[in-house]
Amino acid sequence: MTAPLSAATSPESRVIVLLVDDQTMVAEAVRRALAAQEGIEFHYCASPAEAVLLANQIKPTVILQDLVMPQMDGLAMVRLFRANPETQETPIIVLSTREEPQTKSDAFAAGANDYIVKLPDKLELAARVRYHSQAHMNRLQRDEAFHALRESRQQLIESNTALLSLNQKLERATLAKSEFLANMSHEIRTPMNGVIGMAALLANTDLTNEQRDFLDTIRGSAESLLALINDILDFSKIEAGRMELEVQPFALRACLEEALDLLAPKATDKGLDLIGLVGDDLPETIIGDVTRLRQVLVNLIGNAIKFTSKGEVATTIEKADANLLARAQMQPDCWLLHIAVRDTGIGIPADKKDRLFKAFSQVDSSTTRQFGGTGLGLAISKRLSGLMGGTIWVESVAGAGSTFHFTIQVKLPSEQLRPALCGPQASVIGKRLLIVEDNQTQRDSLKRQTEQWGMIAHAAATAEEALARLREGGTFDAAILDLQLPTQDGLGLAEAIRQLPAGKTMPVVLLTSARLRAGDTRAAAAGISLFLHKPVRQSQLFEMLCRAVEGRIQQEKKAPAVSDFDEKMASRLPLRILLAEDNPVNLKVGLTYLKKLGYQPESASNGLEVLQALEQKPFDIVLLDVQMPEMDGCQAAREICRRWPQDRPRLIAVTAGVMSGDSEACLAAGMDDFLPKPFRPADLQALLDKWGRQKLSAQPAATATPGDIKQ
Ligand code: ADP
Repeated sequence: MTAPLSAATSPESRVIVLLVDDQTMVAEAVRRALAAQEGIEFHYCASPAEAVLLANQIKPTVILQDLVMPQMDGLAMVRLFRANPETQETPIIVLSTREEPQTKSDAFAAGANDYIVKLPDKLELAARVRYHSQAHMNRLQRDEAFHALRESRQQLIESNTALLSLNQKLERATLAKSEFLANMSHEIRTPMNGVIGMAALLANTDLTNEQRDFLDTIRGSAESLLALINDILDFSKIEAGRMELEVQPFALRACLEEALDLLAPKATDKGLDLIGLVGDDLPETIIGDVTRLRQVLVNLIGNAIKFTSKGEVATTIEKADANLLARAQMQPDCWLLHIAVRDTGIGIPADKKDRLFKAFSQVDSSTTRQFGGTGLGLAISKRLSGLMGGTIWVESVAGAGSTFHFTIQVKLPSEQLRPALCGPQASVIGKRLLIVEDNQTQRDSLKRQTEQWGMIAHAAATAEEALARLREGGTFDAAILDLQLPTQDGLGLAEAIRQLPAGKTMPVVLLTSARLRAGDTRAAAAGISLFLHKPVRQSQLFEMLCRAVEGRIQQEKKAPAVSDFDEKMASRLPLRILLAEDNPVNLKVGLTYLKKLGYQPESASNGLEVLQALEQKPFDIVLLDVQMPEMDGCQAAREICRRWPQDRPRLIAVTAGVMSGDSEACLAAGMDDFLPKPFRPADLQALLDKWGRQKLSAQPAATATPGDIKQ
């Protein structure tokens, strides 16, 4: 007997009632009582034997169970339902004519959820039926949710395990990458030590100005190569979130000039004008990370030169305007600098701009073949400018050139240093200067700069314009002539100037990117002895102008050897030094450095030889290369500490490995300190000083009397 379901009933509120009662009359009464209610499906079973089967089939949400039945006691039925898995949780309301508390209690003990005395009011019956049915449905839903939760938890555990194993794989890959980088860095640093070391030694010999200039370029390039290796390491550091910025005062203009100097030879080769301008309203000294700023500048200016075949590359550093400031998330007490590198090169197609700043991406692979490059520069620049609190972007028209912009946040030192260059007594103040330069950016920059020093500057773009000015009666205290002018070069112009009354004795400075020098016959014939090299450094410009107006003439003379070495070091601090190094060039560099300091070092080419040498006689300091054949530096250090626990030499690791962990490994092996390659004379001196003193004061009798050591 089944009452139809109302169409409006949702499955959640569905009530399915199963009445188990032997009396059809009761059944009919209950059916009627419930029929008036919406959404109640009614089933009836008179035979206890069939009740469980029917329940399994229709899945009632509530069971009404008669207590007294001829075939089976109602309580036994309740127990039967409870024992049946399908109905074990189904609410059971016992229907009975009995009212004794004991009977009711027995019913509950058997597993009933409710007890109603027959026949109840139909409203009450419906309410109880609904209540129990709803509670049952809620329980089912809750169980289902629990089940689902358990399942997702299981899935989570599974994906977590998968993630963990992926992570481990990734860690292994990262480790492999770091190891590769460390090895590569080591391999490159080793010969770099030879280059930088030999260049430092050469710098301490007598050289002409020109040779010194060349040597400086070699040293600069070596340093920049080193910087490149560091770039690659940097990139992996940034990627790993381990890049830390320096916060130090530095000279902003010098930072730009260093970047320009480094790249000047390339610009000269391509005949490009390389120009740098720093806003007048910017302080001389700012606080930030000079190395990272220079790195971004070198990247962008280097690219600009690479992708430009004609014209100029101009870099400007200014205070950011209100627009940029509004978009920046400024830190307290910070200034926002806006740096722009503009070129007149090949430009970048609009649809390619997006991928520029991604690692290892290039506009098209043919540019790589043509220009070289790794595609890392802009990615590093982007990350670095971001780390410095700024952003990077590009404006470009394909074929017409590009401008790369970036911003960085900097702080100001509390006391601004006065610009040392142009004190009020400077001899250039009020002097009249003729500037002849065809490149407008350069011309404007020279004019603005010299006017800032109080000079009265007149700028001309061509030789003709300059000559006309002189013929018209213009008189000047000095002139700066660009060597490369469109119709007549600077030397030709100088010759013409000398023909004019106003130009006969006028001091002339030749602005050149070629390494012309005093003594050049044409220059000498034109009466030129002052040369200013591009890119123009502000300090050199000032120096040349002072010389010009003061009548000081530059002599091609031997530049005195600038000593990087404290030659009296050995007499001040006598030490017995053993240098262990397997690479012959680096051995030579190290031995020569030490000899320059006045020492008579001995050498070994592996750890075993070090031990043999120490068995022969004592040493105060052993410089130990870490990677050596037969027995490496760390093994040797451990052995030395074991064999001579009391009075051992001080051990300094010399290594090209600079990854984190390298220095710790050396110290753990018993070494006292760590000298990273490539090293400069000053680095070596500082370590010898520190450990030499320490060793000698620990063991005064072993080598020198304390009186020998000047503190
Ligand atoms: P790399 O120069 O080492 O290839 P970068 O990340 O510095 O890597 O530059 C990525 C690419 O962006 C270059 O290969 C080039 O295609 C393009 N690009 C960068 N700077 C310029 C520029 N000034 N003019 C034109 N294209 C440029």
